[in-house]
Amino acid sequence: MEFETRAIHEGQEPDPATGAVIVPIYQTSTFAQTAVGEHKGYDYARSGNPTRTALETCLASLEGAAHGLAFSSGLGATTTLMHLVDPGDHVVCVNDVYGGIYRMFSKVYEPKGYRFAYATPGEIAEAIDGSTRLVWLESPTNPLMNVVDIGAAAEAAHAVGALVVVDNTFATPYLQRPLELGADIVVHSTTKYLGGHSDVVGGFVGTNDAALAERLRFLQNALGAVPGPFDAWLVLRGLKTLGVRMDRHCANARRVAAFLEGHPLVERVLYPGLPSHPGHELAARQMKDFGGMISFLMASEEEAVAMVARTKLFTLAESLGGVESLIEHPARMTHASTAEGPFASPAELVRLSVGIEAADDLVADLEQALAE
Ligand code: PLP
Repeated sequence: MEFETRAIHEGQEPDPATGAVIVPIYQTSTFAQTAVGEHKGYDYARSGNPTRTALETCLASLEGAAHGLAFSSGLGATTTLMHLVDPGDHVVCVNDVYGGIYRMFSKVYEPKGYRFAYATPGEIAEAIDGSTRLVWLESPTNPLMNVVDIGAAAEAAHAVGALVVVDNTFATPYLQRPLELGADIVVHSTTKYLGGHSDVVGGFVGTNDAALAERLRFLQNALGAVPGPFDAWLVLRGLKTLGVRMDRHCANARRVAAFLEGHPLVERVLYPGLPSHPGHELAARQMKDFGGMISFLMASEEEAVAMVARTKLFTLAESLGGVESLIEHPARMTHASTAEGPFASPAELVRLSVGIEAADDLVADLEQALAE
């Protein structure tokens, strides 16, 4: 079955008890046993819940993963993945990652003895050495919209036996499937495009490696960063419209990027869909389309900070991937925690999450915000 059909049906048979067409929210913490150890597949809701199972089955299918695990947040998923490595191990991370990932790596894991090397997208292979156990990638990156060659990084990592994790939050499986490109593990903040409506926080991990999946399922239960049934249900509902939403996000972003590129007050637009973007050809090879995220540089920090406060339709807020358009200043908002790191977000940078409103209205809003 095609992607759009699986998004609606995979793991979502009518409820066996009642025939409900939509998977119910199994709001229960425990499940009755008929005799000790005899139950219908579920015993305690941290270990498993039918609503969560439906989400895990559906999203795994969309990522082309044999195994899927849902988490309470993207960072909850990341914490769990970090238990695949040990203090002393070497981790290579692309140097432009979500600020919360950098904060976790630098403030939580580095003091415990984990060793991190941050590399530009073009220097990932060089940063990998014989002691590297994990390579952490995002593509496109947050917030600079760099494109990472996932296949090339996977080849270099696998040559030394390291695992490759790709954070696919910006692209979604509709536009890019990292496991098919050579990654071992795909991770998501389902808070973003997968939920799609800015009303839930969640995470996901997918893999095709049965041994890794078994270890991760143990860690998911042992560490406990699991989503509640209503949160799992909200993400599952979001998945049903992922394809149509992404098509509209991409079309609107193309319009907005072209408008910004022609505006005299905008110094540079960072959008992989623009032929001027250095990663355009690579993105065209490894993605179906270029997504709904755009960053751009103003002439100064003052102009950037003033501009983000003047939009009326684009709401000034952190996060991304919802149906409504958002605008933010990464250096002071989502990426404030990278300020002291090796790759501070530029102070002149503005980031847009282009929603699915009418493109004309979005362009008009940016036009008025840039006019003053
Ligand atoms: N990865 C990316 C690319 C993100 O943008 C975010 C959050 O903004 C995360 C991971 C963390 O996810 P969460 O906020 O769901 O913990």
